[in-house]
Amino acid sequence: MAKTALAIHGGAGTILRSAMTPELETEYRSGLENALRAGWGILENGGSSLDAVEAAVVSLEDCPLFNAGRGSVFTHEGKIEMDAAIMDGSRLKAGAIAFVRNVKNPVKLARLVMERSEHVLLAGDGADMFAEEAGVELKDNTYFYTDFRWKQLEDAIAAGRVQLDHAAPKPVGTVGAVACDVNGHLASATSTGGMTNKRFGRVGDTAIIGAGTYADDACAVSCTGHGEYFMLGVTAYDIAARMKYKGSSLEGSARETIERLTSIGGEGGLIAVDTQGNLVLPFNSEGMYRGSVGPTGDFKVDIYK
Ligand code: ASP
Repeated sequence: MAKTALAIHGGAGTILRSAMTPELETEYRSGLENALRAGWGILENGGSSLDAVEAAVVSLEDCPLFNAGRGSVFTHEGKIEMDAAIMDGSRLKAGAIAFVRNVKNPVKLARLVMERSEHVLLAGDGADMFAEEAGVELKDNTYFYTDFRWKQLEDAIAAGRVQLDHAAPKPVGTVGAVACDVNGHLASATSTGGMTNKRFGRVGDTAIIGAGTYADDACAVSCTGHGEYFMLGVTAYDIAARMKYKGSSLEGSARETIERLTSIGGEGGLIAVDTQGNLVLPFNSEGMYRGSVGPTGDFKVDIYK
């Protein structure tokens, strides 16, 4: 019997203890614990890794503290444009959506792309149309709006930069989950609003299979950070490739992948799991909102280095 395991992240970046209040830290920790509970409840009862990662990511999408679903960051034009992906490692199947504007839980739509369409990635109007046909819950702009994200956009425009969602202590990033279930099957899911002040139409690594999200029969990976570098480094797949072709362990592969990310100028982190239920949560930034639970059932939540 495989060792069940689950890891989640809520974004990586410049997360400094000195800039955090105790109240805010408590809120983040409880957001992460809720997501672990949602995913672990499924794994504990013999459910699939796919259902577990979806449930964990839905929980994080619904929490306005994280940059995914409700609480997503704004584009330069003050719009919400979200990306998400999910991958089932044992079937080597994936679904992804990019540039959706009104879907309450983008990860659910990504799963439906995987289950009900012949495609892997749907974007923009086509993804919105698919969402309506599939009957997923839609929300208007006010649902996604948060004051602190709007302020973040104003600051980014004033500074003339496209900003990773981790520059400030408060609004923090992209969410993701990876899991190994009782059958040793792996899955991963990632969901994001992208980067503050991003250009109209910009799609990041989250929705790109192999870049920000990947799972096969060796490992499952979900990334967070400056998406352009994760695409250039094909980061999520890089770990699987090192395991497969070099025979490296999950831990060794993840370490080398982060070193490579650093060498090309990328900032961020990732979570990954293998078929033995081993978990890694490495990052090269100041911090990463993260949590994990292994066979003992003990929840572990961390923020800083
Ligand atoms: N990777 C995401 C993107 O570039 C951003 C993040 O992880 O915060 O869209």
